[in-house]
Amino acid sequence: MFSNLKEHPADKILALMQLYKDDPRPTKIDLGVGVYKNAEGVTPVMRAVKAAERKLVDEQTTKAYVGLAGDPAFADVMIDLVLGGAVPRDSIAAAATPGGTGAVRQAFELIRMANPSARVFVSNPTWPNHVTILNYLGMELVEYRYFDAETRGVDFDGMMADLADVRAGDVVLLHGCCHNPTGANLNLTEWKAVVDLLLKTGGIPMIDIAYQGFGDGLDEDALGVRLVASSVPECLIAASCSKNFGIYRERTGLLMAVAQDKGLRGLTQGSLNFLNRQNFSFPPDHGARVVTEILTDAKLRADWAAELEEVRLSMLDLRKQLAAELQRLSGSDRFGFIAQHRGMFSRLGASPEMVARLRAEHAIYMVGDSRLNIAGLNKTTVPILAKAIIDTGI
Ligand code: PMP
Repeated sequence: MFSNLKEHPADKILALMQLYKDDPRPTKIDLGVGVYKNAEGVTPVMRAVKAAERKLVDEQTTKAYVGLAGDPAFADVMIDLVLGGAVPRDSIAAAATPGGTGAVRQAFELIRMANPSARVFVSNPTWPNHVTILNYLGMELVEYRYFDAETRGVDFDGMMADLADVRAGDVVLLHGCCHNPTGANLNLTEWKAVVDLLLKTGGIPMIDIAYQGFGDGLDEDALGVRLVASSVPECLIAASCSKNFGIYRERTGLLMAVAQDKGLRGLTQGSLNFLNRQNFSFPPDHGARVVTEILTDAKLRADWAAELEEVRLSMLDLRKQLAAELQRLSGSDRFGFIAQHRGMFSRLGASPEMVARLRAEHAIYMVGDSRLNIAGLNKTTVPILAKAIIDTGI
């Protein structure tokens, strides 16, 4: 039986991590995998997470199963964090999932179950897992233009032109904030135009929000999601706690299904429960409980928000430093987009050959599409990267 299996292409980012590990050069710089790192290159456990975990160790009395959709208290705090009251609670069905990836996967499965002929429109480029999961599920995918290779901003005209092809019942996948891999994001005016287009076409939005708090702030990063969720008849939201709580390996996420027709909530909730049951039964609980502890305890919540804000500002500062150094070296503003982008990533717009040269000649590792993880930098490595970018002719 096993001999019938096919080889799967290696995950490019994980392969890059291995290459970096194997590189003996002491000056090597890792701007690859999408994990936040502080100036010392460490992905720390956040203070509030440690405190909540200590409390759980001391006070948790059982590890018995939770419900199929996870602990309702987790759904409540996450709905509040993401939607901030923009939508009545009783119009939202929600299920905890293994990470944001689990939420994305369950959302796609729900779409397929409800409407097998739905096409899913994804930005070009998007997080590669969106594409591979849709392909794996045999769902039809349509790309829409997103990134302007010249300005390194959003090609909004191209995006709207491509989304004009959306038919009623098709799904439009949007990144809530901090677009991965480009770092280029919609402004509020553009979000409004997308809402108008969705209302006109009957397209159903699905929003993937994996970096809330990494861009312009916790509430600011959720403005687009809140606008969409409060404006359209139905939408799906996949939220991840991996980055903003730094609990990557705990696999903590929530899928929300919002319907203005409150009569649909029971049916939708039942389907979310069913999908969890078929795929893994009960979702992981530890990370969800940690998040719930933090968000329901005023002191822990304030400490978490303060540490997250430090993380956000440190990345913003690195963006500004890199853009300024590149301006100094190039004598032009053409790298200004790095300070405009938000989140952990920026797409430099370099060719795969240039990315390979950065690796070979400067021991600088970034993903082949020239996505760099800003959090992989520090004060010392910013000038090294800037010089390498100019030397490589980017
Ligand atoms: N969506 C996007 C756009 C992401 O970048 C990520 C993380 N790489 C996720 C979802 C899911 O992350 P996780 O499953 O680790 O929570």
